[in-house]
Amino acid sequence: MNDAPFVLCENLVKIHKVANIEVVALQGLDLRVQRGELLGIVGSSGSGKSTLLNVLGGLDRPSAGKALVGGHNLLTMSARSLNDYRRGAVGFVWQQGGRNLVPYLTARQNVELPMLLAGRSLWHTSKRAVELLDAVGLSKRMNHTIRGMSGGEQQRAAIAIALANEPPLLLADEPTGELDSATALMIYQLFRDIQTRYGVTVIIVSHDREIARHVDRVVGIQDGKVATEIGLHTGGVMRTVLDSAGRLQLPKAVRQQYGIASQVTIETTDEGILVKPVEE
Ligand code: ADP
Ligand code: MG
Repeated sequence: MNDAPFVLCENLVKIHKVANIEVVALQGLDLRVQRGELLGIVGSSGSGKSTLLNVLGGLDRPSAGKALVGGHNLLTMSARSLNDYRRGAVGFVWQQGGRNLVPYLTARQNVELPMLLAGRSLWHTSKRAVELLDAVGLSKRMNHTIRGMSGGEQQRAAIAIALANEPPLLLADEPTGELDSATALMIYQLFRDIQTRYGVTVIIVSHDREIARHVDRVVGIQDGKVATEIGLHTGGVMRTVLDSAGRLQLPKAVRQQYGIASQVTIETTDEGILVKPVEE
């Protein structure tokens, strides 16, 4: 049972419908994330990264396939359970740290708010807020209003808020998108500290390939599917991922280099499988 991944997506499909137009944002995505893993997701704009996070965070319903998080089935659970899931089982950090913050309240009041709304005691709320603000490096600033804080400090406060109700899963959508590179580095390190200290599973979406240095594993998304994977377990070598039907995607750069259009020949050799372009 312990071997079951904390997040399991199989053949996950999400179709956005706007008026009469359908956009297939996730096209049969497969992903497994272990409990306590710090995962990075990269991909170009429009590849489906935010859609995936929104599905995992219960903000958006998947259209088809399988999406399980900590045993919750995001496809079949009732609207009410999904609501509870969103409030208690997941914390969100957005590109604009300010999105989850009340500007005229202090950092401490901001962190206390979600706990008070969840009906936690004043004693618990106050103790946990101080502890979390310490964990994100804001002890000295906790009685300052959010309005007067730098972008990096606001993002730290946003991380503390996301963790307030002890969710096992923390999702961050381009959390460093509006920060300079030095501040971004500190935020990446903070996610690592948080993952180590609280044992939460952390998924960070980024279009910054630098993120590879700061996470356990990076998966690359292309056209709504996981296309590549790299991490310590791959010896730092980029792997191409087969989908659940065994389809292999060749990166565009490789296709161009070898003049591969729509077909290849495959030969088995002693060393492996040889893929050759076909003259078309
Ligand atoms: P990313 O975060 O990687 O940039 P998104 O998940 O935001 O990608 O978008 C994936 C695709 O789905 C894009 O083609 C985008 O235009 C479309 N899309 C995303 N959200 C919506 C929405 N709410 N309504 C309609 N189309 C959407
Ligand atoms: Mg996005």
